[in-house]
Amino acid sequence: QAKNAGRNTLCFFDPKTQINIAARVLMEEELRTALELQQFQLHYQLQIDNLGKPLGAEALIRRHHPERGMVSPLDFISLAEETGLILPIGNWVLDTACAQLKTWEQTARTCDLILAVNVSAKQFHQTEFVKHIKAMLMRYAIKPGRLKLELTEGMLLENIEDTIANMNALRKVGVKFSLDDFGTGYSSLQYLKRLPLNQLKIDQSFVRDIITDSNDRAIVRTIIAMAKSMRLDVIAEGVELEEQQQLLVKKGCTNFQGYLFAKPLPIAQFEALLGK
Ligand code: C2E
Ligand code: MG
Ligand code: MG
Ligand code: MG
Repeated sequence: QAKNAGRNTLCFFDPKTQINIAARVLMEEELRTALELQQFQLHYQLQIDNLGKPLGAEALIRRHHPERGMVSPLDFISLAEETGLILPIGNWVLDTACAQLKTWEQTARTCDLILAVNVSAKQFHQTEFVKHIKAMLMRYAIKPGRLKLELTEGMLLENIEDTIANMNALRKVGVKFSLDDFGTGYSSLQYLKRLPLNQLKIDQSFVRDIITDSNDRAIVRTIIAMAKSMRLDVIAEGVELEEQQQLLVKKGCTNFQGYLFAKPLPIAQFEALLGK
């Protein structure tokens, strides 16, 4: 909001801001072009259980830029959110993810895989969100339980009553919910217990130093205990080392995602990985 105010007022007085705005307008144009030219792609990162069995994947967006190559979502998602372009981009992500689920349904090896899709605040809070997801599930005729939406704490607190109502409406048809980057937000347990979640996703910042930092170990232990008592699944993200996984297993973690198992991969490579 401060940014929006700055855009309309301060820019006339601050040459530095003005340059930023010119750059932003350019980047926004760029993003629009990317959408039109279909430069977005989904990569798929494997999620496994404690026996190493594939459970599914997280879909992660990238932009294939003609000159710059593969561009990370960290470089465009926040701008997309600020400009509202996250709505068409998010729709493209959901559409592509559901189409992929449909394709997987045709093969025994992949028919039970669950695909986790990141949803941004603006997307989730649009009035038609529930209707939109339901329409998408109908269009592709996929089992709703194979779609998992990853939300973050911050976005859920924005309008807690609406949030809960929307989540309940989607849970009722079978859609799953995971709370991404868990532990980095500020949600109180009071709120947390009201959310119809299926899974807590331990943020990678706690996994990173789990071997050396006893505080991180304590946090991870607490998150897992909390998940258990609330009857939620728990998945650790950002697992890069075997020692990290061993520690997580020791603390009771059952699902894993990270470079140790697979990086986010283009669909062909992801499917090749499953074949092994
Ligand atoms: P996230 O949802 O928390 O995704 C996890 C990020 O951690 C991904 O970065 C993934 O590539 C990275 N990662 C996975 N395993 C490891 C590991 O072992 N070590 C390390 N260091 N990193 C690992 P990525 O793909 O750059 O995505 C960054 C963020 O962008 C995501 O964080 C998510 O917030 C956002 N994002 C990605 N795709 C979408 C999308 O389709 N829609 C929306 N709204 N946001 C998205
Ligand atoms: Mg995520
Ligand atoms: Mg995360
Ligand atoms: Mg994140």
